[in-house]
Amino acid sequence: MTTVWETVIGLEVHCELLTQTKLFCGCRNAFGDEANTNVCPVCLGLPGSLPVLNEHAVELAMRIGLALNCAVRPSTFHRKNYFYPDMPKDYQVTQYDEPLNVGGHLELASGRRITIERAHMEEDTGKTTHVGGRGRLHDADYSLVDYNRAGVPLVEIVSAPDIRSAAEARDYVAELRAILVATGASDGRMEEGSLRVDANVSVRPAGADVFGTRCEIKNLNSLRSLGRAVESEAARQIALIEAGERVVQQTRHWDEEAQRTVATRSKEEAFDYRYFPEPDLVPLAPADEWRAAVAAGLPVLPAQRRARLGELVGAGAGSEDRAVGDQVATVVAQGLDDLVVAAIEAGADPQRALNRAANEAAADADGASRLDPASFAQLLVMEGDGRLSATQAKAVLAAMLSGGGNPADIAAQKGFKPLDASELAGVVDEVVGANPGEWERFCGGEDKVIQFLVGQVMKATRGKADGKAVIALLQSRRG
Ligand code: ADP
Ligand code: MG
Ligand code: ZN
Repeated sequence: MTTVWETVIGLEVHCELLTQTKLFCGCRNAFGDEANTNVCPVCLGLPGSLPVLNEHAVELAMRIGLALNCAVRPSTFHRKNYFYPDMPKDYQVTQYDEPLNVGGHLELASGRRITIERAHMEEDTGKTTHVGGRGRLHDADYSLVDYNRAGVPLVEIVSAPDIRSAAEARDYVAELRAILVATGASDGRMEEGSLRVDANVSVRPAGADVFGTRCEIKNLNSLRSLGRAVESEAARQIALIEAGERVVQQTRHWDEEAQRTVATRSKEEAFDYRYFPEPDLVPLAPADEWRAAVAAGLPVLPAQRRARLGELVGAGAGSEDRAVGDQVATVVAQGLDDLVVAAIEAGADPQRALNRAANEAAADADGASRLDPASFAQLLVMEGDGRLSATQAKAVLAAMLSGGGNPADIAAQKGFKPLDASELAGVVDEVVGANPGEWERFCGGEDKVIQFLVGQVMKATRGKADGKAVIALLQSRRG
């Protein structure tokens, strides 16, 4: 019997906060500036300099914690000691056993809830670039260090090992990114390193109640490499176990070229961090009023927006509604839910509004961002009461997406007049007359031939006919 394997994943996501300045000094927090221009004695760790905690960074960290349903608690900072050239102080200030945010959860569009263990504050390191060889430390000709990033405020968000597939890991990071962007805590740019993901991966026989040994894949900087790295690492572990070997707990990295995970040289990770309380900072205990004000200022988050739209379009939680649920998720992810809600409130059919937004509008994000809600609603009402066929409505919407404008005017310009009933009946007669074979098969009970006949009517009317009306006519003619 072959074993069915289950993948178990816990993610650690580092998020750079969108502050003007660094965590403990007044240096600019900016990506892409000339190397080593945003530095001072504090972030360079020069003797005698003292840190001053950035209030805005604490506020953003609280926003993240509250948006992830965490308890915001009194916390302290520690020094995590290790030597690496990108860290001028030779220690990183981080929150260790008393983090700011603990015990929350994040709800995915699928309805699955992922537990958040903690979301703590820490400072970023500088950035080392290894030049020559394959761009890694051990085969480089030389290395360059940029300290602009040293001391940039980070929040590290640690999930419980609740994630069960590569696809779910991607969903989790996409959802987390949407929350971080919505709260204003992050710009969400993974390609600029604003979000960096470490993936802990283990496998176990499906249904087992203990976890397998995990490996940690460091520094994944796109959803695509996250998905691939998790898949490849799970496959590697399964192959090992099936060959009678054991998974060894270790740190690995994702080799993009080879499309596999590779063990990081163990010397690099043999650290004893010698954590101790940071003596230059007092404990951080945000006042209740401050925490309440931050909570009150949170925007409506993606999960709440999906719930609101799902209710309006009548999507339940059942699996039969998965297609509608996917459309709702797409519309919210693209920020089109306000448009759809406004259209529904203005009298558009909810399902039609959702369809047009999830299909046509979502495919043209730029155009959709300029779409006027009242015009969008008007278009849907015109389609709903039969003034425009589905084909015509799509053509009008395409014109609105590319150049704006009023749907009634665009329809008139395009010569979209509804066919009156006698005109349509005439076309149906012609199509039946021109296709006697198909008509006979349809009359003989071959229902699917109706698609061909409807297609012919659409062709003859250049898409002006209302599909439902054509079907009704053909069916009543068959008797
Ligand atoms: P550490 O402090 O050594 O980094 P933690 O226990 O804090 O270890 O876990 C770090 C991350 O690893 C968390 O995201 C957690 O969910 C995940 N994790 C822990 N055990 C496993 C496992 N067996 N398989 C997959 N992920 C795991
Ligand atoms: Mg870890
Ligand atoms: Zn500085």
